[in-house]
Amino acid sequence: MELSKLNIKFLPGVGEKRAALLQGELGIVSYEDMIYHVPYKYIDRSRIYPVAELNARMPYIQIKARIRNLKMTGEGKARRMVAEAYDASGSIELVWFKGLKYLESQFKPEQEYLIFGQPSEFNHRLNIIHPEVDNFEKSSALLVGFQPVYPTTEKMKKAYLNSKAISKIQATILQQAHGDIPETLPAWFIQQRKLMYLRDALSNIHFPQSPELLRQAQYRLKFEELFYIQLNILKLKYKRKAYFQGHPFKTVGHYFNSFYSQYLPFPLTEAQKRVIREIRKDCGSGKQMNRLLQGDVGSGKTLVAVMCMLIALDNCYQACLMAPTEILATQHYDTIREMLAPLDINVALLTGSSRKKEREEIHRSLQDGSLQILIGTHALLEDDVNFQNIGLVIIDEQHRFGVAQRAKLWQKNTIPPHVLVMTATPIPRTLAMTLYGDLDVSVIDELPPGRKPVTTWHAYEQKRTDVFRFVEGELRKGRQAYVVYPLISESERLDFRNLEAGYEQINDYFLPRGYKTSIVHGKLKPADKDREMRRFASGETQLLVATTVIEVGVNVPNASVMVIESAERFGLSQLHQLRGRVGRGADQSYCILMTSYKLSNESRKRIETMTATNDGFEIAEADLKLRGPGDIEGTQQSGLTCNLKVANLGKDTLILSEASRCANEILEQDPDLAQEANQVFATQIKRLFKTKITWRYIS
Ligand code: ADP
Ligand code: MG
Repeated sequence: MELSKLNIKFLPGVGEKRAALLQGELGIVSYEDMIYHVPYKYIDRSRIYPVAELNARMPYIQIKARIRNLKMTGEGKARRMVAEAYDASGSIELVWFKGLKYLESQFKPEQEYLIFGQPSEFNHRLNIIHPEVDNFEKSSALLVGFQPVYPTTEKMKKAYLNSKAISKIQATILQQAHGDIPETLPAWFIQQRKLMYLRDALSNIHFPQSPELLRQAQYRLKFEELFYIQLNILKLKYKRKAYFQGHPFKTVGHYFNSFYSQYLPFPLTEAQKRVIREIRKDCGSGKQMNRLLQGDVGSGKTLVAVMCMLIALDNCYQACLMAPTEILATQHYDTIREMLAPLDINVALLTGSSRKKEREEIHRSLQDGSLQILIGTHALLEDDVNFQNIGLVIIDEQHRFGVAQRAKLWQKNTIPPHVLVMTATPIPRTLAMTLYGDLDVSVIDELPPGRKPVTTWHAYEQKRTDVFRFVEGELRKGRQAYVVYPLISESERLDFRNLEAGYEQINDYFLPRGYKTSIVHGKLKPADKDREMRRFASGETQLLVATTVIEVGVNVPNASVMVIESAERFGLSQLHQLRGRVGRGADQSYCILMTSYKLSNESRKRIETMTATNDGFEIAEADLKLRGPGDIEGTQQSGLTCNLKVANLGKDTLILSEASRCANEILEQDPDLAQEANQVFATQIKRLFKTKITWRYIS
């Protein structure tokens, strides 16, 4: 009997209707799906509280009490039954809205009850709504252990498919199929790691025998889940290292050295130096480099990129840099061309709006090798872009490039170029390990000297005039400012109207005071965008009103204010990116988050996080906790992780490290998982990771 092939509708107590609901609401189809639908928390039913100790902040609790003063009250929808539960320490009100007839006849004055529920407050009085009430003597079984609480939805609850019902289903499955649950880790491994067997773990996760056994069960399931993700992703890395040669960058020569000694615009930070050393070593090893460069916004990744490209050139290879937007590509091109001007290096820009003639020239000079550095957008991925000898590919702000796109670059050559992926969205270490576990990681953990943290505050939209006045003060000092509007989808007309209305308002206030504005949004032609950006970058305009197009990478050090409109509609990492556009010069900079009065709890937490810290990694951690990993940009399309059912990347950091260490140990001995002892691993990986990405195409 294979549990993944048994349809849940055949389980006694489920049937067609509930099965449809389970599938529709939770995606549960098979016995196996069901059994891995695990409780998200447990209620400690081993403890009984004195009534006097209860308060409204408590989770579910239980009391031992008698019941008195039972009465019906209210009319229609408000019709309810109330009663008083009391013990020696005090009393609390109990309230029921449903099943009143039945309940009324249930309670006996002298009887002691075990009453279970969540205290809440109403009119300054504590009560418990719809408590579970059981005869105390008969319910002593409930006093041991933990009661599982399962994720359900409103729709399910309405159909009485609540946590309790799910618990019953789990009991039936375990009863019927316990013996058929196959072990998914090899026996030697289980013994060596002192893990619980899968059958016991699944029993205990649903019906914990004791806190200790529950802990072991959770550990086993979380560990296994993370272990297989690590094993899968690290296997790619081992294979790649075993099979692929890389272009050896043997020397550091004229280009690098003369740039370093004569033309470096500022001294490198220690972190920049360290990262360049790491990259150099990697590229010199004869193996292909696949490295993720993480660095907070403004940490100076561009300079690192430039210096690495120079090493490629010193070894007679070409290099390219790919950015996600035209604005960014153009900006990189301007910066880099200027930096390298004294070195007589051939640099070109290729984007979607490059003219045909330029294009042809670029294609030609790439093939004959006279073009040394190519900078551009997705256009670089087009088929007629062929390098003579590409040695290094740098991808900036990689969140927008999927794995498949990275793969495309790869196919261009037989010996793959070294790949450096730069990301300004700091990723918590746990997430990086699961998403990019196949990449080596370098981190710039230091900002250039003299940066002051951006002062951030929250302002309600009603105070816009005050905000404008503040911005004006900064402009008067010669600074510049951004005002950003959310344009979640460029086609959303309402958003667009907001932007236009806002732009008008800004012009009404600032034009008469002698300041000029630029506007940039997705509906502008690339050439117009470019012109507006340049006007702002050169200081001709003082205000840039924009949608999120400036989200990544734009660099105007003179800008000192970032105003974000409808900040509640942005995610944390976006807000952090936007804020990173200011605070690049030596002056104090400001970020003002404007919102309406109405804020959801989650939005409020995001705003609070932003005002509390400037540290990108802290923000990334907070983001992971608030949203869960499934939501983080790039996670879903990565195709390398399966949905986590048991583990939590926000919390299970230690288990993940342990799982990763184990996976490495195994792969070091047996990178192909070909040995007899490792066959269970190999089978399991095949089963779990159905989306097959050919390893050779993963950069
Ligand atoms: P990001 O890592 O966000 O891409 P950039 O490369 O755009 O950051 O650099 C941000 C700013 O810091 C730029 O103005 C750049 O010239 C400057 N910068 C980079 N490295 C240094 C350094 N070592 N010292 C001083 N300023 C630096
Ligand atoms: Mg950048």
